[in-house]
Amino acid sequence: MFAGGPTPPRGADRSGVQPSYEYRRDMGEIETLQAKLVACRLCPRLVAHREAVARTPPRRHRGERYWARPVPSLGAARARLLIVGLAPAAHGGNRTGRIFTGDESGNWLARALHAYGFATQPTSRYRGDGFRPLDAYITAAIHCAPPDNKPARSEIANCARYLHAELRLLRRVRVVITLGRVAFDAYLRTRREVGLAVPVPPPRFAHNRAWRLPDGVTLIASYHPSRQNTQTGRLTRRMFHAVFARARRLLSSP
Ligand code: SF4
Repeated sequence: MFAGGPTPPRGADRSGVQPSYEYRRDMGEIETLQAKLVACRLCPRLVAHREAVARTPPRRHRGERYWARPVPSLGAARARLLIVGLAPAAHGGNRTGRIFTGDESGNWLARALHAYGFATQPTSRYRGDGFRPLDAYITAAIHCAPPDNKPARSEIANCARYLHAELRLLRRVRVVITLGRVAFDAYLRTRREVGLAVPVPPPRFAHNRAWRLPDGVTLIASYHPSRQNTQTGRLTRRMFHAVFARARRLLSSP
């Protein structure tokens, strides 16, 4: 576990199984990767934005110290569920320093994860609040908050290096949930780039559609729990939870 909450014993899971050598090695590599990510300054526009936002916070966050750096992924190398989001929010992850933390999108995700046994609690408000994914790993197509939540193509390409490494290190993943079309496309593109097969013709994004990929991983597409989607009713709580219920069913089946 790289970020967020009290650090559990390395590799500990609810079964109490002791971590293997391979697990400790993979977790060590993930921690090294996340440490490198946090220092990344590859995208000048995003570096400027994440820092500018921190200098001029809205009234509700005035006086808070913003993270204002790339926001690392969250979870353990042993996870079987991989969640790929779009990017940290300017006043969410970019403020708190933990992915999907400190805004309504984070709370939507935490509630859905917790409802199906993938998180310790149904809220994700700040680092150290006790929220922790269980058997799940949360990453994003890009790790710095983009202006208007719209990353440039070149920025997504820059940040793909981290998802590449994660796909290689997360060896136990059986189900992938992508949040929004950008994350869906980024995940499929990254699979191709690391040599994992993608069906031809490729899957087409639709909410709660699922595809069994050639390596046995099931991909589930979901709308992103952004305010734009949740406040317009495009994504209801029921629709969102149906995605995680499906993931739980898949992971419960032999
Ligand atoms: S978006 Fe990714 S590649 Fe670009 S600066 Fe942030 S961490 Fe680095």
